Amino acid sequence: MIVLGLETSCDETAAAVVDETRHVRAQRLLSQHDAHRPYGGVVPEIAARAHLDHLDRLVAETLEAAGVALADLDGVAATGGPGLIGGVIVGVMTAKALALATGVPFVAVNHLEAHALTARLTDAVAFPYLLLLVSGGHCQLLEVRGVGAYRRLGTTIDDAAGECFDKTAKMMGLGHPGGPALERAAVGGDPARFALPRPLRGRPGCDFSFSGLKTATRQVLDGLPPGPLSDRDLADLAAGVQGAVADVLVDRTGRAMTRLAADAAAGAAPTLVVAGGVAANRTLRAALGGLCADRGWRLVAPPPALCTDNAAMVAWAGLERLRLGLTDPLEFKPRPRWPLDPDAPKRAFAGV
Ligand code: ATP
Ligand code: MG
Ligand code: FE
Repeated sequence: MIVLGLETSCDETAAAVVDETRHVRAQRLLSQHDAHRPYGGVVPEIAARAHLDHLDRLVAETLEAAGVALADLDGVAATGGPGLIGGVIVGVMTAKALALATGVPFVAVNHLEAHALTARLTDAVAFPYLLLLVSGGHCQLLEVRGVGAYRRLGTTIDDAAGECFDKTAKMMGLGHPGGPALERAAVGGDPARFALPRPLRGRPGCDFSFSGLKTATRQVLDGLPPGPLSDRDLADLAAGVQGAVADVLVDRTGRAMTRLAADAAAGAAPTLVVAGGVAANRTLRAALGGLCADRGWRLVAPPPALCTDNAAMVAWAGLERLRLGLTDPLEFKPRPRWPLDPDAPKRAFAGV
């Protein structure tokens, strides 16, 4: 089975071909970071136009590099949401046109499910597993029971972890996207120099909060000499924010592990998967490695390039759905919002 996947939900234009042996036959990715940097964030209209300008060429290059003709495909998948709607429309319309022209099924992939299933492409992880999904727009703990089967254990009550990195990085004068810039700036910094809060740490439940950390960062900056930050202040503050985010994520993930371990009847397997752009962060990966070592759990963290947005994960999620017979009609409408667990209350298991 060979599937072409397209990703256009934010500021990466990407195409990839994967097969059922978990082989990424080829992939092409174009980041629009330079186009958005002057604005300090992603501008939806610029993103949609860039996807339109580049996607066709990336698809042709990917198929050629994979040595695959359109006629060889078993399906065409595209991110159908959630995301910036203009970009999602570009990817979905392109995938539908290719599917129609070649007579193969179209699969609309939930972008969050693509992040969630990446570990099964890179490491053949079996269901069920605990997922820490940390990206630019989401921060959730989910029990992944199967394709399309998610139980939410916790979510953020304000900002996502990636959003926290992006916003604090911006305050420090670092470029867009903030997470990778902050990680680079933190190298050699003293994470203990500035006392930053760990919101919700030790509190019941598995929810997250990051807005207090943002405010605290602003207050630290206001207390430093005016003008550009010294290299030392920047490194220490960046390391402090990174350490605080990692501490909070580890604490909440530890609580979810306890919850699932107590739920043995649900068949919870001791595997933690971390996914989404923030999962590329080395400090977080190391901290989660420590947590898993303490608890006797296995940690699966896909390679950083497959944590941030990419099309291999979309092609793979499409393939997982296709082999279960889950395809979508050409009438599928792009979804700006598309929760993995549509029936879950905003915050689950608050009393744990
Ligand atoms: P979503 O997946 O929620 O729809 P998105 O697709 O925009 O959002 P991703 O591409 O999955 O998000 O992740 C991007 C986020 O990850 C950004 O907030 C970025 O700053 C953050 N990020 C990327 N690399 C790192 C890193 N090395 N350290 C910390 N954060 C990072
Ligand atoms: Mg991006
Ligand atoms: Fe994403």
